[in-house]
Amino acid sequence: MDSSILVPRTSTGSAVQGATGYLTIDLSALGRNYERLSSMLAPGRAGAVVKADGYGIGAECIATALYDKGCRHFFVAQFVEAVRLRPTLARDAQIFMLNGLQPGNEGPCAGSGIIPVLNSLQQWEQWSAAARHLKRTLPAVLQFDTGMSRLGFPLEERQALAEALGDDSHVEILFIMSHLASADELDSEQNCEQLAEMSRIADEFAGFDISFANSSGVFLGETYHGVLARPGIALYGGAPTAGEPNPMEPVVSLDVAVVQTRIVPAGTKVGYGGAHVTQREARLLTIAAGYADGLPRSLSGRGAVYYKGTRLPIVGRVSMDSITVDASALSEGDLTLGSQVEVLGPHQTLEDLARDAGTIPYEILTGLGDRYHRQYR
Ligand SMILES: *Cc1c(COP(=O)(O)O)cnc(C)c1O
Repeated sequence: MDSSILVPRTSTGSAVQGATGYLTIDLSALGRNYERLSSMLAPGRAGAVVKADGYGIGAECIATALYDKGCRHFFVAQFVEAVRLRPTLARDAQIFMLNGLQPGNEGPCAGSGIIPVLNSLQQWEQWSAAARHLKRTLPAVLQFDTGMSRLGFPLEERQALAEALGDDSHVEILFIMSHLASADELDSEQNCEQLAEMSRIADEFAGFDISFANSSGVFLGETYHGVLARPGIALYGGAPTAGEPNPMEPVVSLDVAVVQTRIVPAGTKVGYGGAHVTQREARLLTIAAGYADGLPRSLSGRGAVYYKGTRLPIVGRVSMDSITVDASALSEGDLTLGSQVEVLGPHQTLEDLARDAGTIPYEILTGLGDRYHRQYR
């Protein structure tokens, strides 16, 4: 028997023995997205948010590609992420830890050259004590809460912080920052409210560079740009602004292999719980990815995959390792065992899939599993 028929092929013809899903990451599109944001921000600069393994698509590859495009400011959330990324980047790249400094983590942080975003007076005191103890100047970023009540110095601590800054020369503040809560909605009042609060902070802490905008913030206009923006999702091709055309290039595509095909009569139950019953004779395909691969169970009976542009609706419940789709729209012989269907690609964007799953593109991206063969172009 010719076993090559069992080797799945991507639309581009490449094949990897045993792979049943291909996650393709277009690093040149990523680079163009970075350049686009950078040109909008000039003379300010674009950093890159590469937390959660570069939004699920590979922090190290992403960061290396962006470093080559001139990016020098990389943001992660947690210490573990920073430590993993540090050796892959040259020393002139700075890695910032957005979630702040955990008690007891000052030494490891200082030792590995990771820059904490300080989010409270307590964290400021820890970092400044560590600097005095090490008899070194340690770098830091100060994050202020301008209305999200999540991370950052609250209003009540600003006075005390201003006084502490005056007394301490062991901590070098590289810039100050805050984060927008509703930047993807162009007409949200919260944007102006947070901008006004950020301007008050800029007056109180005069002389520091400002970082304010995430991806969506870049598209709110120049007043939101500051000196350094922190885009994440837009770099990876996600739409920065709700309800507007997406100016970013797609970076991620996902093709999944068909592992079984069948034709069933009307009245046939499909999948767990018999949640779908065919209305007429149907051609069904089972594809090799499920909720364990990051295709949410909420896609059960909703959403679709595509084959050469034909929409194949998901039928029945999404299983852990597979999904069944109705391929009655295709004719016999169009597609065989080992063919690939498109989950993300030219016919289905991240936004489409997220909408059908009742979630946001961020959650889809960061959830994409590790059973796919990942290929970087
Ligand atoms: C995640 C994050 C970002 C990036 O946000 P995007 O919407 O993905 O551009 C920027 N800043 C902070 C503080 C974040 O937590």
